[in-house]
Amino acid sequence: MSANPQMISLVRELRRMTQTHLAEAVGVRQGFISMIEAGVRDPSDEVVRLIANALDCPVTLLEEQAPVRGGEAQDLHFRRRKTLPVTERRRMEAKLHLSYLTVRGLLSGIDYEPSLPLPTLDIDDIDSPAEAARLIRRLWRIPTGPIPDLTAYLEAAGIFLIPCSAPSKIDAVTRRCEEGWHVTAYNKGMPVDRDRLTRAHELGHLILHERYSGADAEEEANEFAAELLAPADEIYPHLAGITTRDLGKLIDLRMHWKVSVPFFVHRAADLGCISERQQRSFYQLLNSHGLMHQTVDHQLPPEQPTLLTRIIDVHRTTHEYTLDDLAESARMTPQRFGAKFGLPQHKAADATTSRSSKLKIVR
Ligand SMILES: [Zn+2]
Repeated sequence: MSANPQMISLVRELRRMTQTHLAEAVGVRQGFISMIEAGVRDPSDEVVRLIANALDCPVTLLEEQAPVRGGEAQDLHFRRRKTLPVTERRRMEAKLHLSYLTVRGLLSGIDYEPSLPLPTLDIDDIDSPAEAARLIRRLWRIPTGPIPDLTAYLEAAGIFLIPCSAPSKIDAVTRRCEEGWHVTAYNKGMPVDRDRLTRAHELGHLILHERYSGADAEEEANEFAAELLAPADEIYPHLAGITTRDLGKLIDLRMHWKVSVPFFVHRAADLGCISERQQRSFYQLLNSHGLMHQTVDHQLPPEQPTLLTRIIDVHRTTHEYTLDDLAESARMTPQRFGAKFGLPQHKAADATTSRSSKLKIVR
């Protein structure tokens, strides 16, 4: 199979290499790389191998023919996208595409089916994004109160959460896939409460914005996320009549609901519990206490995605895959695969725990 010119430029940009750098590493002229990436010249197998080496990826990644999608596509969502430099946006798109290829590769040979439904709703057919969130709570039989582990629900619905290093402006990007599962590449440097809000927001996009992603999409996803994590009828009694003297109460709410303090201030304003002036006073207060942009979090336990790890385990126990096999399926080098997903400690000969490759995702 021949290399896909799009994949070469995608991986090159992801590695922050110019065409000149790549040409030097391969031992050809920059113009030659340029022609390869433009699809004008077909590189020999040997040149493709050298390019793959220079880009620290397997040749099979460069041969991937799945179309690379662009940021204009409605299935890509960036929180705070307006202030994001184009190059960073392209890099995040590239990470999402590689995450998709990794999941697709690791799912081959696995009988995988999500255990929770993930409906798509037309925003015109429902009252509001909040109504969609209430529907999901009912459909997924989420008990009243805080959602203890949102990540487990998302994974049960077939959403693969892939950690990525990304600038602080990027929280997550999501791709709706035709395969019946979906991929969210998320910034691995976020505190737990922001992580949860981000994941709920991305879920909102998957449910509400299948065909259309208008100017209001971000607001709609935010409204969905707020109602999913802290339903208005449950949270209103706690926020009614709140004043800036009640900061301790907001911190308690954060610990209980595992959503940030600024979130609750915003929620209180949305629900009419505080005025705009009070909201500003609250934000000043949070700023002075360093609660506006919390980065470190030792109090709330993190929500770790486990779906892909469980799939990797099935390959190791049932298929007796080695690290090299796993990396090959994931379209990564063994070193990169090990760094991202952890090195297998043993070749797992314990076939009694998992005889079948049918993966049942049970909550
Ligand atoms: Zn968004």
